[in-house]
Amino acid sequence: MTSFKRISDAGNLTGKVALVRVDFNVPMENGLVTDDTRLRAAVATVQTLRTQGAKVALLSHFGRPKGERVAEMSLAPIAGAFAKVLGANVSFVADCKGEHVKKAIADLQPAGVILLENTRFCKGEEKGDLELARQIAALGDIFVNDAFSAAHRRHVTTAVLAEIMPAYAGINMEEELSALDKALGRPERPVMAIVGGAKVSSKIDLLKHLVTKVDALAIGGGMANTFLFARGHSVGKSLCERDLVDTAREIEAIAKASGCDIILPRDVVVAKEFKAHAAHRVCGLDEVADDEMILDAGPQSVAILATAMDVAKTVVWNGPLGAFELEPFDKATVSAAKAAAARTKAGKLIAVAGGGDTVAAMHHAGVADDLTFISTAGGAFLEWMEGKPLPGVDALRS
Ligand code: AMP
Repeated sequence: MTSFKRISDAGNLTGKVALVRVDFNVPMENGLVTDDTRLRAAVATVQTLRTQGAKVALLSHFGRPKGERVAEMSLAPIAGAFAKVLGANVSFVADCKGEHVKKAIADLQPAGVILLENTRFCKGEEKGDLELARQIAALGDIFVNDAFSAAHRRHVTTAVLAEIMPAYAGINMEEELSALDKALGRPERPVMAIVGGAKVSSKIDLLKHLVTKVDALAIGGGMANTFLFARGHSVGKSLCERDLVDTAREIEAIAKASGCDIILPRDVVVAKEFKAHAAHRVCGLDEVADDEMILDAGPQSVAILATAMDVAKTVVWNGPLGAFELEPFDKATVSAAKAAAARTKAGKLIAVAGGGDTVAAMHHAGVADDLTFISTAGGAFLEWMEGKPLPGVDALRS
């Protein structure tokens, strides 16, 4: 973290233009923003830059227009939505490079804010094209990256701009990096990871990396079934990737060699149908009938997890422990989330959770405000958990 320049380091910016990469790729329906979390997240950085005297030109992608102008993917409707959240005027210009954009920025009042058009309308954006980067850089004096969620891409506005002009981490970016650093970079040990979700196949790299980094790895959700099956337990008609048995064994072997405890469910909740309120029962491993499927971890498993959390000083969590969208198969996820939240509130645990379904699960459990940090950056959060370099972050290092 110490190697990044912060916007407070930029000093007085009177008369300067800050190009700010935000993530305004927000969910929309009928031209209206249905979740303004990402708009609200941008306010701190924008206001700070305005206070320092800068004009602010906002850059963002929206959807996947693949270098073409696609009317439905214009950022035009977002300008008004962001103005409301910001409490200030936000103008819009239908391009992100060129003389007319430069003029629109020049015409802004001091501390004015303008949103530029979807950067992915430009062919070079996703290729990290240097010529496009130079054209965009010509619009401003400094570059601020506040979009951690796009930092796993080496695009012009997520990384290359930071390489060719004075660059700073925005407040959001800084918060995210400092939380992630606490969770896996330089964590207080023991550190425990909780990984759930549907399939091992989508998280092989993540599991292989984590077992070399953490002291304990609790595996839940559908992916635990593959590990249980690999250990010789019956899983009935559960979601289970039988072709990944060797991968599961390999992960267990890496864990053993690295001194990482693997925590698997000891009891499970089974049902014959994959639907909410399906008839169900709690049973031990090896008591799963051929026509039953495991849809959640059982109470004994949750108790073991809670005990492990008593030992841990840090928890990093991705993926639900069961089919949490279907009640009552949300129980293990909700109970474990509450256990993490209680320990965090008591100052005994640093708990960081992230990834799309995980954010939804934490909200569902009512603990979204009680954990140390929740990352809404899906892909970037997972790639960070996999230990992969994030080009957008690396480009900011001074
Ligand atoms: P992921 O996107 O990999 O994090 O997976 C999240 C999905 O896994 C959620 O939709 C859960 O319903 C699903 N899931 C978790 N546990 C199970 C399970 N035991 N059987 C089937 N699906 C599950």
